[in-house]
Amino acid sequence: SNKFEKGLSKSRSTFGEKLNRLFANFRSVDEDFFDDLEDTLIESDVGFDMAVNLTDQLREEVKLQNAKNREDVQNVIIQKMIDIYDQAGNDESTKINMAENGPTVILFVGVNGVGKTTTIGKMADKYKKDGKKVLLAAADTFRAGAIEQLDEWAKRDQVDIVKKPEKSDPSAVVYEAVHKAKEEDYDVLFVDTAGRLQNKVNLMNELSKMKKVLTREIPEAPHEVLLVLDATTGQNALNQAKLFKETTDVTGIILTKLDGTAKGGIVLAIRNELHLPVKYVGLGEKVSDLSKFDANDYVYGLFK
Ligand code: GDP
Repeated sequence: SNKFEKGLSKSRSTFGEKLNRLFANFRSVDEDFFDDLEDTLIESDVGFDMAVNLTDQLREEVKLQNAKNREDVQNVIIQKMIDIYDQAGNDESTKINMAENGPTVILFVGVNGVGKTTTIGKMADKYKKDGKKVLLAAADTFRAGAIEQLDEWAKRDQVDIVKKPEKSDPSAVVYEAVHKAKEEDYDVLFVDTAGRLQNKVNLMNELSKMKKVLTREIPEAPHEVLLVLDATTGQNALNQAKLFKETTDVTGIILTKLDGTAKGGIVLAIRNELHLPVKYVGLGEKVSDLSKFDANDYVYGLFK
């Protein structure tokens, strides 16, 4: 979509621009070309191993297809990137798993500052405009200002919120919210959680306690656990994702700040290393700056 491309323009002017520069300087498919390609991939944060591996695969594929001119080589690369994305897990990547009946519960996890609250605000607006009855739960009771910030989003989006004073037990918030969601026929419940990765055991306990509270009311809940990652942090985001994956059953990724990053390659790295689908991407600070992720649009967008 247009917005997706526009939002990506910064990402493109870096990862994409590097790729385009590579092809602008294209003379022939020799070792220099593959060296430059490997450098481009490494600089764009697809990860060192993957950059080397991908370059090897591309070298093979270019030979196999006897691609010689710029356009053919570029097409081989585009196709390979899309393949990597699709191979890594062939679910319908951007789909949100919705409850067949009753409220759909979505947990949002991620460390402070990645854009978790903003993302919930954007998602709530989307679902509300889709005609859904939306409830927010301010279960990040630890970060100063988190409750207030979510409350502001609730007002802006004109959706309801369950909140308690700071330092309350997050599970108590979840308990009240899931009750309300069931009793009052909400379609979706978005739960903001605290992401204190510095203590993995704490985080794990807290999340499993929340889940227990949820499943007592709705056996299939949570229907999604979405991990929010900041694309500008590159490989750091990848490490966070690994830790969260060990801690809880993450079902998908929301990659924020893709509008402001030189490291667009992180999308491929997440897919390749974590086998988790990127469901949405954040492309700015405004409420409308959230798009479903589409691998084809993304990869073709890089080469425009
Ligand atoms: P949280 O601590 O994870 O809840 O993070 P916040 O939602 O408070 O977001 C942290 C900062 O990142 C805020 O200034 C947001 O406006 C900003 N932000 C969030 N998502 C995006 C995005 O997709 N693009 C840009 N450029 N900024 C974003």
